[in-house]
Amino acid sequence: TKQLLTVDGLKVSFQTRDGQNQAVRGVSFHVGAGETVGIVGESGSGKSVTAKAVMGLIAPPGKITEGEIRFQGEDLGRLTEREWRKLRGNRIAMVFQDPMTSLNPVKTIGFQMAEVIRRHRGLGKKEALQEAVDMLRKVGITEPERRVKQYPHEFSGGMRQRVMIAMALSCNPELLIADEPTTALDVTIQAQILDLLKQLKEESDTAVLLITHDLGVVAQVCSRVVVMYGGMVMEEGTVEDIFYRTGHPYTQGLLRSLPKRVGANRERLVPIEGSPPDLIDPPPGCPFQDRCPYAFGKCSELPPAADLGEGHRSLCWLVQDKSTLKEALGEEET
Ligand code: SF4
Ligand code: MG
Repeated sequence: TKQLLTVDGLKVSFQTRDGQNQAVRGVSFHVGAGETVGIVGESGSGKSVTAKAVMGLIAPPGKITEGEIRFQGEDLGRLTEREWRKLRGNRIAMVFQDPMTSLNPVKTIGFQMAEVIRRHRGLGKKEALQEAVDMLRKVGITEPERRVKQYPHEFSGGMRQRVMIAMALSCNPELLIADEPTTALDVTIQAQILDLLKQLKEESDTAVLLITHDLGVVAQVCSRVVVMYGGMVMEEGTVEDIFYRTGHPYTQGLLRSLPKRVGANRERLVPIEGSPPDLIDPPPGCPFQDRCPYAFGKCSELPPAADLGEGHRSLCWLVQDKSTLKEALGEEET
């Protein structure tokens, strides 16, 4: 597939009173045209900061210190603020965790949707409102003609997120970035929103970059996964690689802390003990060393990225020798 988005060696840091917080420390990945890629990690892993960098939304005291972000071959680091504004919403759209913060409480849903549609597509007022009605219907909101006249507080959380998704997609973006789009919703509504995303994906060729702390969410929508920890990519691969050919102790930890949503045999949840590294003064070596059950002497040095085949890669010393990895990760399974 043709690469739509390429992030190469991205570093982002934030100036704080205590020093530079190195939130993103050399992240590389790509999203192909029409592809759905998940970035997964705990809070503080750098996943949201990475998404913000792709949207051109890193503002002081934050700064991109190194690396390159290319969108359809174009170096986004060279864009002016004006060019960014043209790109955002039009070719790259974004959906956030809390739709309430992105909606105006004193304007009707229809008005707000029509504004976006008019701005990007140059339609007249009436046509834009009709388009808003059609979009609401498309994202599964019943009685859209009545609904467009309502205000955001008259919508439930799940419905507001449907509105945000409709608005984001109304301009036919090439890339949709969704940052924890279902985190604030209860499990049933969450499943409905994920189904909606999947359905819309099938109907359009918009690529999706989904940011989440939940590997379960990734499994439902994504084809490829980037696992982040301590500002770095720990593992990258297809959903099958990540779930069935797990190549990193951190990924293994995430998988074991995953509640089983289906099936009768509920396994015990094992949260990963400890907390993420301090990124103001990160320890040299593997970012996961303090929490890794397999850490050994060598882990105080940063491992090189190992290629496990067909785009599956892992940043772990164990992977330098596949049999060592199997022994270590396999042994734990009972
Ligand atoms: Fe664990 Fe070492 Fe691998 Fe890091 S490099 S994940 S500490 S075994
Ligand atoms: Mg976040």
